[in-house]
Amino acid sequence: MSVKENLLEIKNTLPSNVTLVAVSKTKPNEMILEAYEAGHRDFGENYVQELVDKYEQLPKDINWHFIGHLQSNKIKYIAPFVYLIHGVDSVKLLEEINKQAKKNNRTINCLLQIFIAQEETKFGFSFDECELFLNSDLLSQLKNINIIGFMAMASNTENVEQIRKEFKSLKEFASKSLIFNPSSLILSFGMSSDYKIAIGEGSTMIRVGSMIFGQRNYNI
Ligand SMILES: *Cc1c(COP(=O)(O)O)cnc(C)c1O
Repeated sequence: MSVKENLLEIKNTLPSNVTLVAVSKTKPNEMILEAYEAGHRDFGENYVQELVDKYEQLPKDINWHFIGHLQSNKIKYIAPFVYLIHGVDSVKLLEEINKQAKKNNRTINCLLQIFIAQEETKFGFSFDECELFLNSDLLSQLKNINIIGFMAMASNTENVEQIRKEFKSLKEFASKSLIFNPSSLILSFGMSSDYKIAIGEGSTMIRVGSMIFGQRNYNI
């Protein structure tokens, strides 16, 4: 199947409130353009340099989502154009994004990454840390960022009930959080292997790579 066919097959089954971010990391511009020509505009990348190169080479009306682990010293490269930063996992990073957004005279949309998995290796705020921050004065001082929701990754497991439980915990946490308007809150969870479970549990933004573009080869 072609990129276009894969993309449309997924899009045709999505509820209207769910946005598909096509994760194009490691994939060539030709593949992105094939999705673009099929009408797609939201693409996700994990690596700063790769994202900057693609931004420069591809059409300017693409919404570029940064979904990887972001280092403070690299924010300046993506701050002029990034559409949404998904994996914000510390207050320090938010402060730096705010600073770089201000320099560029813009407001940058961010999602707070929440740790929901059982694994040690995943980045993110715990529910408690996140709540503490959302209730702090600091938030209102960061005028050049706009926190519009949460992002999470489930455990890397075949256990569907475990994945479902983790997604459910995020949805519950988000529903209790009073600072967001429920109708515009973004919940970014679900990838190729678990996006159907994610939609069932209230995801409004899925990040799908290999099901659209094929398996990634990190050695090239
Ligand atoms: C790579 C990646 C994805 C997409 O993964 P697939 O399994 O290829 O769909 C989604 N989210 C994040 C954070 C990623 O790094």
